[in-house]
Amino acid sequence: MSKKQFKAESKRLLDLMINSIYTHKEIFLREIISNASDAIDKLAYRALTDDQVGMGREDFRILISADKEAGTLTVSDNGIGMTAEELEQNLGVIAKSGSMAFKAEHGGDGKAADTDIIGQFGVGFYSAFMVSDKVTVISRAYGEEIAHRWESSGADGYTITECEKESAGTEVIMHMKPDDDNERYSEYLMPWKIMRLVKKYSDYIRWPIQMDVEHPEARETGEKNEDGSPKYETVTSTVRETINSQVPIWQRSKSEVTDEDCMNFYKEHFHDNTDPAAVIRINAEGQVSYKALLFIPGRQFLDYLTSSYEPGPELYSSGVMIMEHCTDLLAESFYFVRGVVDSPDLSLNISREMLQHDRQLKLIAQNINKRVKNELLKMLANDRPKYEEFYNNYGRQLRYGAVANYGQDIESLRELLLYNIDADKTMTLKEYAGNMPSEQSVIYYAVGESVAKILRLPQAELVRSKGYELLCMTDEVDEYIVEQLREQDGKKFCNIVTDDLGLQTDEEKKELEAREAEAKETLDFVKEALGDKVAVVRLSSKLVSAPACLTTEGSVTLEMERYFRKLPPTGMEPPKARRVLELNADSHAFAALAEAVKGDAERARKLADILHCQALLIAGEELDDPAGYAEEVCSLF
Ligand code: ADP
Repeated sequence: MSKKQFKAESKRLLDLMINSIYTHKEIFLREIISNASDAIDKLAYRALTDDQVGMGREDFRILISADKEAGTLTVSDNGIGMTAEELEQNLGVIAKSGSMAFKAEHGGDGKAADTDIIGQFGVGFYSAFMVSDKVTVISRAYGEEIAHRWESSGADGYTITECEKESAGTEVIMHMKPDDDNERYSEYLMPWKIMRLVKKYSDYIRWPIQMDVEHPEARETGEKNEDGSPKYETVTSTVRETINSQVPIWQRSKSEVTDEDCMNFYKEHFHDNTDPAAVIRINAEGQVSYKALLFIPGRQFLDYLTSSYEPGPELYSSGVMIMEHCTDLLAESFYFVRGVVDSPDLSLNISREMLQHDRQLKLIAQNINKRVKNELLKMLANDRPKYEEFYNNYGRQLRYGAVANYGQDIESLRELLLYNIDADKTMTLKEYAGNMPSEQSVIYYAVGESVAKILRLPQAELVRSKGYELLCMTDEVDEYIVEQLREQDGKKFCNIVTDDLGLQTDEEKKELEAREAEAKETLDFVKEALGDKVAVVRLSSKLVSAPACLTTEGSVTLEMERYFRKLPPTGMEPPKARRVLELNADSHAFAALAEAVKGDAERARKLADILHCQALLIAGEELDDPAGYAEEVCSLF
């Protein structure tokens, strides 16, 4: 029988396990048990809707048995089992989540400290190789007649052969390594050790973890000793006992379970090696009773931005999972929250459609969303760097959620919004409004690709030179958010690119009008030279040192224009912004332009075009003819 090879990265992980110097090898049992429990979850879940399964909740169990003579420890479950293909896929390649974390953790170097990866993440099935020199898996998938035996003695490969097994489920048989100076592997075959490990790591597993436990007992033989006292002998009876308490972690009281326990649960259950940024524990009674254990992840998890990410906490009814991802429990803004929600009030075989209209569920959702928001507000108030990190990871989700469903949640999210006012300084809207100098009447903001680019906008210079802050918005939705929020603490928003900055006194306004009249010839010339590339050419009140900038008039901004341009074609012309070229009458460039207009029309045309191109570039637009622009600039040397 030929051996199959492990996939490259699995082999590396396996090497790591086999040669592990990790001091907590005992966690292998937790990993194997948790796989068994997942497999039972799957079959039990199926049993809810499929009568064919023919098993009730009380029939499921995980059985641990140790054979001291053979040196094997066996964990068997009566869960969903695996087909030959699944054995190949699941055990021949490390699980997707695992492999990604592995790569991220280790880069190219296979021999990096194993403590980190094992300690923080756990490595699932392969951890069996930390304690065994051979692992045999016998599995029969639910619905199949044939079973299969997967076997491997380590990194040189594995075999899969057909075999027999009475019913669906999986048996993992671990052949313990011989004891050495560092580790007494034979201890893992001792009942006291096994019980201790189960209590320590797997106590909350919902399914009974059973073991045949020997009870030595002194029993009268019926005979008498010489002194007439009764004779005793030791009789050992074997009793199958459930060794875990089976109470899920979220069902236990706060005094029993520490935050650290919760974090460990999170990391193991959701395959994340980073501590969550916040743990939310809810034990609600009253109108609706439920328990929830929710987490705000400490980093952006790997598949979050992909379509494979499914939001929504797991939903349980008295410890039985009824839905893997219940999106109805979370507002879209909070789709990054992970965790479990358990309510005895929900019926077991409720369908997704029915759930949507369930009153209880709506109440729970309201409650949960409120708690998540409060937790975030608490973080914002007490640990700004942590909140900023959170916002970096999931701020986008908050903002997109704010405009979803016609912005119905936007008011409740107002306090959570955060914007940069500098490369490394942020402000909430409330902070901005509260910090405005008394003469400042509006909240200045600009939308652009990055904070750095926004701060370099010519219009930003004037605002900031007055000592006013500028909210830098880098998301397309920000513009919609501002539009919907309208104001903060009575202060209106002002887009520095499109709106009147309101910084001119009446006198200054008059002066500008007068200068515009004076410069009419130049302005008209530029407008004529640029044709319909711009709708208006005027003198600017927004510029300090830059010679020109591009602004817009009316309701369509450049940002919106770009947004619509990116959408798939609808057959209709996408809306276009009315572009305005603003020139700085105090700039040297303007003086040169005005002079050329008088004497050298050809040169004036070039200068007008160059200024327009520069304004486009600064506004983040592309040039129609970049080469032509370069030539024009060079012709002036
Ligand atoms: P993870 O549990 O993180 O997905 P593992 O390496 O522990 O990674 O397991 C890989 C896969 O093998 C599991 O996702 C599961 O599909 C399958 N598997 C492992 N043990 C069992 C089992 N006892 N019964 C059924 N499937 C199992």
